[in-house]
Amino acid sequence: MGPHLDDHTDSALTKLARILTGTSHKTDPSKESCLRTHRGESVIGHAPVQTVDDLEVAVEAAKRAQPAWEALGHAERSRIMLEAAEALDRSAEALAQLVAHEQGKPLDGPGARFEAGGCAVWMRTAATTPLEPETVVDDDSGHAVLNYRAIGIVGAINPWNWPALIAMWQLAPSLRMGNAVVMKPASDTTLSVLAMAAIVNQVLPEGVFTVVAGGGEVGAAITKHPAFGKIMFTGSTPTGKSIARDASDNLARLTLELGGNDAGIVLPDADPKAIAEGLFWGAFINTGQTCAALKRLYVHDSIHDEVVAELVAFAKNVPMGPGYEAENLLGPLTNRGQWNIVNDLVEKAKADGATIALGGNPDADAPGYFYPATIVTDVTDESELVSEEQFGPALPVLRYTDLDDVIARANAVDVGLGGSVWSSDVASAREVAARVQSGTVWINQHGTLHPLVPFGGIKSSGYGLEFGVEGLKAVAVPQVISG
Ligand code: NAD
Repeated sequence: MGPHLDDHTDSALTKLARILTGTSHKTDPSKESCLRTHRGESVIGHAPVQTVDDLEVAVEAAKRAQPAWEALGHAERSRIMLEAAEALDRSAEALAQLVAHEQGKPLDGPGARFEAGGCAVWMRTAATTPLEPETVVDDDSGHAVLNYRAIGIVGAINPWNWPALIAMWQLAPSLRMGNAVVMKPASDTTLSVLAMAAIVNQVLPEGVFTVVAGGGEVGAAITKHPAFGKIMFTGSTPTGKSIARDASDNLARLTLELGGNDAGIVLPDADPKAIAEGLFWGAFINTGQTCAALKRLYVHDSIHDEVVAELVAFAKNVPMGPGYEAENLLGPLTNRGQWNIVNDLVEKAKADGATIALGGNPDADAPGYFYPATIVTDVTDESELVSEEQFGPALPVLRYTDLDDVIARANAVDVGLGGSVWSSDVASAREVAARVQSGTVWINQHGTLHPLVPFGGIKSSGYGLEFGVEGLKAVAVPQVISG
C-alpha cells in the first residue's frame, strides 16, 4: 500500500490521489503515519514511514540510473525537464489543494497556488538557463576551459514550510546538471513532496529521483552515506550544523539554507502608508513560517507610531482560517510545536512590558493551530522575540534614532539570511543595504525570490547559493581542461 489521500470529494484532490496511488513506494501499512489537516486535526491521508533500508534501495536505484541520465547531455535532459514542468502545470491545482490541506497555507495570495505554480517555473528555469564552458585563458600563455560536470547522487533534505517548492529548488538544478536525487521530506509535509515527485516521475526515467519518506534518522543516514557527493539541506541552523559534522567524513559538498532572523530598517523618509502592505507580507507570508521573512522591524523614531498604525490597519483586515477555504489569506501554523514557540515568545515579551499593538491573544483550545497576526511594540533587542527566530506571525517593531546604531543592531545576530531597507530614496537605501550583513538585502520589499537571482545565507544562515547559474554550479563539480 502506498501513500494515499483519504476520501475527498474535491476533484483536484481525487485526481492527485490517483497519481499518488500509482507510485511504487513499498510501505508497511502498520507503520503508516497519519497526516492531519489543521482544523479539528483530522486525518487527510496516509504517508509511508520509511527506513534506512528503504534508503539503500533508493541509493541503488540512483546508482543504476545516474550514468545514463548524465550521458543524455544538457539538451535532452532539458527537454525531459520541460515535459516534467508541463506535468506540474497540469496538476498544479491538485498540488496546491494538497499543500493547503497538509501544510496549511492559503490557496491564494502568496500561498499554495503560488507554491504549486512556482514548482513548474523553477523546473523550467533550471531546464533553460544556459551554462556554457568558460574559456579562462586562450593566448600565448596557454588554453584552459572550465567545465561543470555532474556530481553523481545528490541527497536533498527539506523542511515543512514550503514543502513542494523547496524540494523543487533542490531537485531541478540537480537534475539539469546530470545528477540523480534521493530526497527526504519533513515528516509534517511528506505527502506534498511525494505528490510533487509522483507528478514529475510520470516523465523522469526510473531511479533518477526517489523520495524516502522517513524521519530525521533517514536524513542523518543520507548525510553520512558515502554514495552522496552533495547534500542540499534546507532547515534549521542546529540541524545544519549536525549535517556539516556528519558530512565531513565523506567530504560531501554542502549547500546549507538555514534559519534567519531578518531585520528590516525603515528610514525616516519612508511613506508609512505606502510601505505598510509590503511590510505586512514581508513578515506574515505563510503566517510567518518563511526562512527569509521579515522577523524584526526597526523604524525611525520620527515615523514609528505612524508605521505601526498603518501596519495594524492593514493587518487587522487580512482574513485568517483554514488554507483550503478560498476567502482566507492567512492560515494556521503547521504544527503544535511551532504554535508553542510563537506563543511562548509573545508571552515572554508581554511579561517584560511589551505592548501588543495587534493580536497576541490566541484561543489555545480552538481546533487547528491558529495564532493571530500579532504586532508587538515597546520591546528591546534583548527580548527573545527579537533575538530568536520566531518563525510565526508575531512581528516585533523597534525604534531607532541613529543610522549607524540601527545597522549595528540589525547585524548583532549570528544569522544573516535576508534583510530590507525601506525608503523613498532608493539610492540611499542601497547604500544602507550594503552595510547589512545578510545574503540578500531587499529595497522596499522583503523576501521576493526570482528563479534567476542567486539566493543564500551568510553567517549561521549557511552557505552556498541556489537559483540561476550559480545554483547550477552548486550541484556540479568543476573540471578544468588545460592545454
Ligand atoms: P529542521 O532542521 O527541524 O528539519 C529539516 C529537515 O531535516 C527535516 O526533513 C528533518 O527530518 C531533517 N532532519 C532532522 N534531523 C536531521 C539530522 N540529524 N540529519 C539530517 N536531517 C535531519 O527544520 P524545520 O523545522 O523543518 O524547518 C524550519 C527551519 O528551516 C527554520 O529555522 C527556517 O528558517 C529554516 N528554513 C530555511 C530556509 C532557507 O532557505 N534558508 C528555507 C526554509 C526553512
